[in-house]
Amino acid sequence: MPTDTLPNPEKSPGRSTGELIRLEQVTKRFGDNTVLDHLDFSVDAGKHVTLIGPSGSGKTTILRLLMTLLKPDEGTITVDGRKLFPATEKERREVRKQIGMVFQQFNLFPNMSVLRNITEAPVTVLGMSKDEAVERAKGLLDMVGLADKCDARPAQLSGGQQQRVAIARALAMRPKVLLLDEVTSALDPELVAGVLDLLREIARTTDITMLCVTHEMNFARDISDQVLMFDAGRVIETGPPEKIFNEPENDRTREFLSAVL
Ligand code: ADP
Repeated sequence: MPTDTLPNPEKSPGRSTGELIRLEQVTKRFGDNTVLDHLDFSVDAGKHVTLIGPSGSGKTTILRLLMTLLKPDEGTITVDGRKLFPATEKERREVRKQIGMVFQQFNLFPNMSVLRNITEAPVTVLGMSKDEAVERAKGLLDMVGLADKCDARPAQLSGGQQQRVAIARALAMRPKVLLLDEVTSALDPELVAGVLDLLREIARTTDITMLCVTHEMNFARDISDQVLMFDAGRVIETGPPEKIFNEPENDRTREFLSAVL
């Protein structure tokens, strides 16, 4: 990737330092199913944190809460010192602008060109001028290796290319936080490495705070400053990747890792 030519707007002076995300006593239930049970954790600005753990342990629910796609039943969620929950819809919309998400299934707008997929939210949500949005989108498409696909429709692209567009679209909003929800799970195996390499590069060259749910343990090991091991809606172990992957203390972590590694 030509990092010297990156627009790299994400690496700007005056970015937040210290704690950027805080969940306090967050509980989420679906009917009788308590998916998150008085969960506490925080993420410092610029850090890359990976959530691992068995399927159904609540990892995606956390990302969906941060995206405000779900509401907690109890507890407080703060981003960059501002409340996401509890908050008014207006306050929530403002905080939410700082958060970008890349989904497992890409979720691109099928009837829009690749370029328009990327420019739409900066223009309509951030009020960016169309010219600036287009210029930035082209820079981002160059960064993700798809400079020649501006006019294509998502359906004309491979899954890996669609996911690169989705990553560019998330970055176009200049988020402080990037949420990645199993972003390679829907890809053909030969396309996984390219997308993970792109994310490694973004982690290395920007100061975006990243929160990833992934089953790609090598990727988690490479990019994480901190790994959180979930089980049944609770963090049962946390630490730097070398500790979690090499010397896990909790039996459930050991069991999980021996099944997936
Ligand atoms: P993970 O990402 O760790 O696999 P999820 O956060 O997706 O886990 O799911 C945690 C639990 O919440 C699961 O039991 C799942 O069935 C349940 N769940 C998630 N979303 C919903 C929903 N919209 N309605 C009902 N149950 C849900």
